[in-house]
Formats: sequence, structure tokens, C-alpha cells
Amino acid sequence: MPYKNPSGKLERSRSTGHVPIVENELVKEKLRSFRVFAQQPDPEINSELIVNSNTLGTSGEPIRWVISFDGSPHEVAAREEYPSTRIGYIQVAGVLVHLEELLGQQNAHLVDPAVIHEATQEALHSMVLPGSNVCRPDMATVKDSWRAEVYDIFRDYSVEDIPLLDIYMLLVRKSDKQSPHGGVIVARCSATPDCSARDIEVPVEGVYCPSCGGRIFPTDALRIHEEVSEEHVNATALGRLMTVLEQITMVAYLHFLSQRQARIVGYVGFILDGPLALFGPQAWLHTAILAFIHDLYDTLSDQRLRIPVIVGIEKGGQFAEHAAAIDGRIPRQHIMPLSDDYIYQHILTFRSSSNSAFGRDTYYGQKFFYKTAQGQMLTITIPKPAGPVNDPYDPTHYPILPDTLALLDRIGTSLYKDAVIPVALAHSYASIPLQTGSNVLTLLSRELLGL
Ligand SMILES: [Zn+2]
Repeated sequence: MPYKNPSGKLERSRSTGHVPIVENELVKEKLRSFRVFAQQPDPEINSELIVNSNTLGTSGEPIRWVISFDGSPHEVAAREEYPSTRIGYIQVAGVLVHLEELLGQQNAHLVDPAVIHEATQEALHSMVLPGSNVCRPDMATVKDSWRAEVYDIFRDYSVEDIPLLDIYMLLVRKSDKQSPHGGVIVARCSATPDCSARDIEVPVEGVYCPSCGGRIFPTDALRIHEEVSEEHVNATALGRLMTVLEQITMVAYLHFLSQRQARIVGYVGFILDGPLALFGPQAWLHTAILAFIHDLYDTLSDQRLRIPVIVGIEKGGQFAEHAAAIDGRIPRQHIMPLSDDYIYQHILTFRSSSNSAFGRDTYYGQKFFYKTAQGQMLTITIPKPAGPVNDPYDPTHYPILPDTLALLDRIGTSLYKDAVIPVALAHSYASIPLQTGSNVLTLLSRELLGL
């Protein structure tokens, strides 16, 4: 936008090039006119809001292994001379960490950072997606190419020989998108923008639209393609796909271990990089994942077996920033439940009043702040209770909490602020990339079952 220079002539805002943005007069003026929702600086924390973790019950036998998941999306120019011709790239890394081996080391909390940086990042899944100006030979647009590629990824990538597509369909069957014949209901035709077909039943192998004849895939129900741009960067769509893949991969390991060695799964902690939540068009999957977790918990409990710790750890965002702001007010080994009142008064203050519970349509986990024995201030989510409760922030609804906090205490690291060892040490000497396939079961079985 042009602005007037001192002589009154319109001038392009060349000055933003060498003056910090907030020094720019136009920016300053705008900032004064905007309402900026800064977080409450270091509020007084009512001591009743903080709970000593020792009062929540005792934890069971220590968890022996941790499986952690982390993804990264990138988009790059396909050729240097054509910067708008782009290719997307996603990696989902998974790592199995032997806790006793790791923590048994003297000064394990002071592991040399160089070891970590030098460790190669081995991916469980690496995949390439088309970007602007790039299409599959059989698809007319970038969006349609994405639909086909996402389906191919789900069909061709597997966890311990279980295709991701099978895990996806397992989740669909726990959602309101399941069709009477075992497929998935796609709400509106994804093949042609103007097609009038609605509520199309799509079997696992895909179908041709009854109205326009376009190809429709079961994974179209994820609606990732809707955020794909034909001409611009596709960071949003790549991020969405990565989040879905991380969480489906975690579900796949929970499913695999509980099917093959149900006695083992309770000795493994599952750590997700990020909250236990799905946002945007994929948010519907959150109810399916929660239903999966509770079915798993029920099955294990019926067999009198231990249930696994599942925890999401957030490294950034408004909650983690708030946690950092109140860090000094929370003693070690204390948990802070987050009620809706607290969330809307102190963290998400831009939502002045909200009638719906926080995270109702997106989160399958309940959020807490926890300060570990090592002093990390963590923003965590753990699976919500099976049924609705009036006070979901009350820690007593979560019998798995003592085991979860005990695990977090053990794996805190002074290396990284508010990080935990298995996530930070993605591939240290004590970790095994999950790529090694069925070794996972062999390793776990050998030790835990004495095989
Ligand atoms: Zn159609």
C-alpha cells in the first residue's frame, strides 16, 4: 500500500526493507488501532489450582520402552530455475527407546548434544507429494493429484506389514463416516467441483462417482486436498497430512502390539510430538482415535492387563508459551489442571466467552501443565475419559496419570528446555529406528516375556 512522503507525494513503502517492521510508522499506526491479545503476564496462580503429583496415586512398575513419533514437512522448488514449480516432502520418524539402557547410563541427563546432532534422522516413512505446477500423469489438477497420492500413500505404506489404509478403515468404522457396507461416506463428490453427488459410499478400493464419473478415494473423506493450492505453497496441506500420518502411525503400533502381544503394550509409553488432537477438515478423526483407545483399554482391562501410557507433548503454541510464563509458580512434580475458565481467562483470552468446552471438536486428549522432577515445564495431553464428565480437568478422572507423570519424570532432560529424552534423542545409542520392522516385536518380546 502506498503512503505519503513528507512532500505529500505517494511513495511505495520502500523503508520496510531496512527498518525493523515494528518501527515502520504505518505498522505502528495499525498496531495502535488493532486489539492485540497479549497473554496475561505471569498471573498469580491460586494454589488450589496446582496438584502435587504424589497425591494422585502410585504408579505401577516402571515403563520399559518408549515409542515416540515426530514428523516434518518441507516444500521445495522442483528446479532452481522454476521456483514456483514445487514438490512437497514429508517424513514421519518413529523411534523405540529402551529406557533402562538409556537412563542406566551415568549422567544420562547430560548426554553430549553432539551425539544427538550427529545422529542421522532415520524416517519411518518418507513421501513426496506434488506441489504447484506438478501433477500426476493420470490427474488433471494438483488437488486431484493429491487425492490420488494420499490414497497411494495409505495403500502402500505400512506399519509392521499392516497397510496404513487398514488402520484408516479401522478408524472409519469407529466414526460416523462408516458406511453400512464397510466403506466410508464421502459427504460431497471430491472429483468434480460442481458435481451434485452427495453422501457417496466409497469402498476401500475407491469408486467412480455415480454422477460425474470421476474417481473417488476412501481417503478423500480426510479432505486434505481441499487445502491444496494449484499455484501457491502447500505448507498447510503438508502439515495436515503429516499430523494425520503421525497419529495413524501411533494407532498402528498400538493396534499391532495389542494384537500380537497384549502383555507387552502396557510396558510401552507412546509419545506424540504435539497435542492429542486433529484440527481442520480432519478433526472428525479425533472421536475415532479416542474410541479406538478406549476399546483398547477395555480389551486390556478385561484380560487384567496393563494399559499403555499415551501422551502428547506440545513444544510451541499459546499453551506452551503460557506454561513458560508461569513456570516460576509451579513446584516440581506438580500438575496444573486446565479448566475452561482458566483457559479462556488466561490463555485464549481472545475468545471472550465460549459456550462449547475447549477442544470439544478437535481434542481426544485433556490438557495439563506438568513440571517434572527434572524441572521441565511440559504442556501435555492424555486421552480423555470414555464418557462425558462435568469436570474433565479433574486429575482423578485419569487413572493412567500417575504412570504418565512417573514416565515424564524419568525422561526429562536438561539438554533441551522442556523436552524429554526420547523425543530429543530421536536416534541415540539406546534407540532403534522403527524402520527395522518386526524387530520391534522381537526386542520387546525377548525382554518382557523372557523368550
Ligand atoms: Zn461427482
